[in-house]
Amino acid sequence: MTGPKPASGLLRRLLRSILLFSLCFTLVASAVQLLLEYRREMRDIEARLELIRVGYLTSFERSLWDLNQEQLKMQLRGLADFPDIAQVRLTSRDFDLQDGAANPVGPLRRVHFPLAYQPPGSEVRPLGELEVAIDLGAVYRRLYATGLNSLLWMGVFLCGLAVALSWLFHRLVTRHLRVMADFTRRIGAGDWYETLRLNRRAGRSPDEIDTVAQALDDMRRAILDDIQRREDDRAALQGLVERRTASLQRAKEDAEAANLAKSRFLATMSHEIRTPLNGILGMAELLRGAALGERDSQRLDALHKAAEGLLAILNEVLYFARLEEGESRPELLDFSLPALVDQVLTLLEPRASANGTILRARLDPRVQGRCRGAEQFLRQVLSNLLANAVKFTEEGEILVEVQLLEELPGGQRLRISVTDDGIGIAPDMQAKIFERFTQASEAVAQRYGGTGLGLAISKRLVELMGGQIGVQSEEGEGSCFWFELVLDAARDQTAASMVAPLSRSLDVLVVEDVALNREVVAGLLERDGHRVTLVEDAEPALALCRQRRFDLLLLDLHLPGMPGTELCRLIRDDLQGLNRGSRILAFTASLQPALVRSCLDAGMDGALAKPLKLDDLRRALAGQEGKLEDGGDAELLDQQLLDTHRGLLGEQKVRGLLELLRRMLDEHRVGLLEALAAEDCAEVGHLAHRLAGSSESLGLRALATCLRELEAAALAGDVTALPALRPRLEDLLARSARALDGLLQPAS
Ligand code: ADP
Repeated sequence: MTGPKPASGLLRRLLRSILLFSLCFTLVASAVQLLLEYRREMRDIEARLELIRVGYLTSFERSLWDLNQEQLKMQLRGLADFPDIAQVRLTSRDFDLQDGAANPVGPLRRVHFPLAYQPPGSEVRPLGELEVAIDLGAVYRRLYATGLNSLLWMGVFLCGLAVALSWLFHRLVTRHLRVMADFTRRIGAGDWYETLRLNRRAGRSPDEIDTVAQALDDMRRAILDDIQRREDDRAALQGLVERRTASLQRAKEDAEAANLAKSRFLATMSHEIRTPLNGILGMAELLRGAALGERDSQRLDALHKAAEGLLAILNEVLYFARLEEGESRPELLDFSLPALVDQVLTLLEPRASANGTILRARLDPRVQGRCRGAEQFLRQVLSNLLANAVKFTEEGEILVEVQLLEELPGGQRLRISVTDDGIGIAPDMQAKIFERFTQASEAVAQRYGGTGLGLAISKRLVELMGGQIGVQSEEGEGSCFWFELVLDAARDQTAASMVAPLSRSLDVLVVEDVALNREVVAGLLERDGHRVTLVEDAEPALALCRQRRFDLLLLDLHLPGMPGTELCRLIRDDLQGLNRGSRILAFTASLQPALVRSCLDAGMDGALAKPLKLDDLRRALAGQEGKLEDGGDAELLDQQLLDTHRGLLGEQKVRGLLELLRRMLDEHRVGLLEALAAEDCAEVGHLAHRLAGSSESLGLRALATCLRELEAAALAGDVTALPALRPRLEDLLARSARALDGLLQPAS
């Protein structure tokens, strides 16, 4: 970019033009003057010759006739004294006289006058000739001097004029132009407030420069007005946007509240329906033992199947509602991805083979074996996708694939896909099926059943894990459901060994009515070398327990014949029983705190969550029971989580947060205990909720678990459960406070 040129260009050009013009003018004028002068000189010479002809020739002729030489010489002298006459010469028969310069040089003009005389009464007689040489050199020299003189004066005058004009032009025009240029430059730079002021005498009548200056200042004012107007518009618009945003926010909150209310309603309904449904299932199961005709047996089976299907649907609805309420948070665990894929495949294998479908898995060998992530979520998503693939594929092939997309520091970006060659999905439905309660078509819904929630749940879970989910599909050809997410490498690559299979193999009795679950548990236990005995119900279980001793009993809580808790009581109460002192664990899909408490009350040693995880099972068998939700044994402080916070936030920030939590514990402890004593469920729920969130996020796990139980009991209005929780709460509050004090002690 070139910068602004110095403003002297115009002036210089003007000066140059004036000088050039003056030079030309001077030359032409001088030439004209010389011409005129030359003409005048020539006229003077002619006049002089005429004077000689008229005034002198007669007297020369007379003197010549009289032969008066003296007179002739005098007359010649007189002529030679004429200006510009270089030489005069008289030649006749008797004389040859001359005067002036002897040998004149330079350009001469010689004029000859014939001399004659006419005596009275006779004819004219020629007497001789007079030659006059005129000195043209002198004329030229004069002309030259005159020309030079005038050229000089005119030049001086014109130069003076040019300088004067330039000065005038600068004063009148260019200096103002410069001020105006600076002014426009300032406007360009955003200085719109300074008016344009020219340094001119006041009181003059305005000229063109004033007009331009006025126009420029008007322009400045117009820009200023425009900016002001825009500023006003912007402020108005911002106000409008803020109002709209606020009203949208209100609408969004209303919608969310409505949505939540709907989910809650659904959840409540599902919960309410679940109880009678369990009754139906139980009754159906009891009826199985009755002597029924073949027809009735078939009807009973149909009833049982339908009720089971309904239960699955209700469980799904409940789970989704919990997700919507934000209750489910991803819990980060170290786990083996290949094992997880293997387990999910094992779980669905029977259903696939019933459909004549083959399941295959392909893992990129570069995928890290042990990962850290929300294993439970991942398992659920993969199970959902694989269950769908199995459901919508007959006599086909399904491939579960884990691909490595990117190596990241501390983890890997993976793509996990389930590809089937089943019925496929129409293009316009492919995005919609991830919405809740949406199925690809009416026909699909009728033929295959389902709630339309599985993919919505999967999408939520994948998003909670920070990933994306999607599908590629062609109707009639098959579908490929995929999700991508980042899985960190396991913190402790040797973690697996901490929950290493027991060296001793155990005798385990599994009492579970759902065949599939039985298979899974048996598979997992046998994989670790344990001997497993499977029974479907309480009756055969009791019978077996009377015959032999087991090291461990895994009791499903929802047995058709009697609840698992009841079965446990019977086993524990049997004074001669071989299994009075055996380890008994509940095995249930919903690890509700109240439920867990009832298990412990019934004499169980703890409870395991379904679907069963190998690590949990191993921990339980090893007696570590880290995952056993009996509350007391849960880790007081998650040091690993704290270390992660420290790594991410820095020691100082974490310390600040811990101090805050310590203060919160002090502040709310008394209030919470008082509310507990007063059985004020609302207050207990509120305080427990507040404290639980903070405790959880800073790793006070045991306290958080206890508070969550308290919150749940308070929310359910279960006043009988509250006093039972009090001693544990007090103990954990005190221990957690001590733990925090320890953390906050200045490092020595
Ligand atoms: P549900 O299976 O309970 O109906 P989902 O949310 O799991 O609910 O699935 C929603 C719909 O997406 C299904 O009803 C079906 O129409 C379609 N769908 C899901 N997976 C597949 C698949 N692998 N092949 C064909 N259609 C599928």
